[in-house]
Amino acid sequence: MDITKIRDDFPILEQEVYKRPLVYFDNAATTQKPRVVIDAISNAYCTINANVHRGVHHLSQLSTEGHEGGREKVRQFLNAKTIKEIIFTRGTTESINLVASSFGEAFLSAGDEVIVSEMEHHSNIVPWQLLESKKGIKLRVIPITEVGELDMNAFRNLITEKTKLISVAHVSNVLGTINPIEQIISIAHSNNIPVLVDGAQGAPHIKVDVQKLDVDFYVFSGHKIYAPTGVGVLYGKEEWLDKMPPYQGGGEMIGKVTFEKTTFNELPFKFEAGTPDYVGVIAMTEALNYVENLGIENIAVHETELLQYTTEKLKAIGGITIYGNSSCKSGVISFNVDGIHPYDIGMLLDKQGIAVRTGHLCAQPLMDRLGIPGVVRASFALYNTKDECDKFINALNRALDILKR
Ligand code: PLP
Repeated sequence: MDITKIRDDFPILEQEVYKRPLVYFDNAATTQKPRVVIDAISNAYCTINANVHRGVHHLSQLSTEGHEGGREKVRQFLNAKTIKEIIFTRGTTESINLVASSFGEAFLSAGDEVIVSEMEHHSNIVPWQLLESKKGIKLRVIPITEVGELDMNAFRNLITEKTKLISVAHVSNVLGTINPIEQIISIAHSNNIPVLVDGAQGAPHIKVDVQKLDVDFYVFSGHKIYAPTGVGVLYGKEEWLDKMPPYQGGGEMIGKVTFEKTTFNELPFKFEAGTPDYVGVIAMTEALNYVENLGIENIAVHETELLQYTTEKLKAIGGITIYGNSSCKSGVISFNVDGIHPYDIGMLLDKQGIAVRTGHLCAQPLMDRLGIPGVVRASFALYNTKDECDKFINALNRALDILKR
């Protein structure tokens, strides 16, 4: 990959922050957008904007084509069988809430159990906890090992006849661990249990083939894969989605409405009440094309190189604890420095133009497990460079000089 050329595609990266070139290492929170994506938003509003599905007029047909073309793009991106299995949402969080609410209503009752893991983001914990209070289900939690991998023996032991769903992250947003989802799905299916995979940190870095994985639900957010905010995806097997009730009521999701009885639209529209973010979907199409043109495998190789390079340099500093030392890891490094609060490091890095994440990273149970209040996290994307990793390490050394003084 020609990174210099790629960086020219991302206007925001030209910026200086506090008179230093911006080094953007907060990609696990959200990625920057290439010009094709920004232009797609602007072009859609300048040329084809009209509400989708409802109009016979020219513009409405064009925007509907854009929106439904986006659905076909996502189908192909995930290798889903049919576009009926692609539901547009606001992002990972809404996708998981949709499944919790709708699958929960159809298939879960008091005493049933849902298995998550200790490394989940809050958005794959709290929706299930809401069901604990609403329906009396129970959450069971897969512990992690010292290197930050799922304890697969403990996982096997958690499965009982009460287990009705397993919901785990593809990749941890804190530890970077790439979880063995193939194995999890195979174990789950041999016990007739469906699996939801939170792909927020997976889809941007790993080629996902939902048919090959045989996964029941796979969810991700557009904004973490170079698409705009406010648009995301729920993939669900048709056989499940068909049996699940609508998540929200309103326009688009209905067949026929009378005051006596309402029938629902077919898949995928049954789950898409109200005007969708069709401009977001049109722009997400460009983002997915952009990623596919570069090759997601090439992106992963590049990010892994940055991960290894930076990890070595970090380790050489001394007094640093890195959280997540799996050999199967994506481009995320979370760490702490002995005796120093992560916020102090984040602030001093910021003053040198380096954007990193600090805090609990929406994974407070994991922080409790690790016995820490928070971490500093650097996370990489396709446009980052080794030169930026050097700048980050130099800036960190400078910050530590000040803080240890
Ligand atoms: N799951 C994981 C693993 C994440 O990293 C994130 C966001 O950081 C989410 C879920 C939530 O994503 P969103 O806020 O886009 O819905």
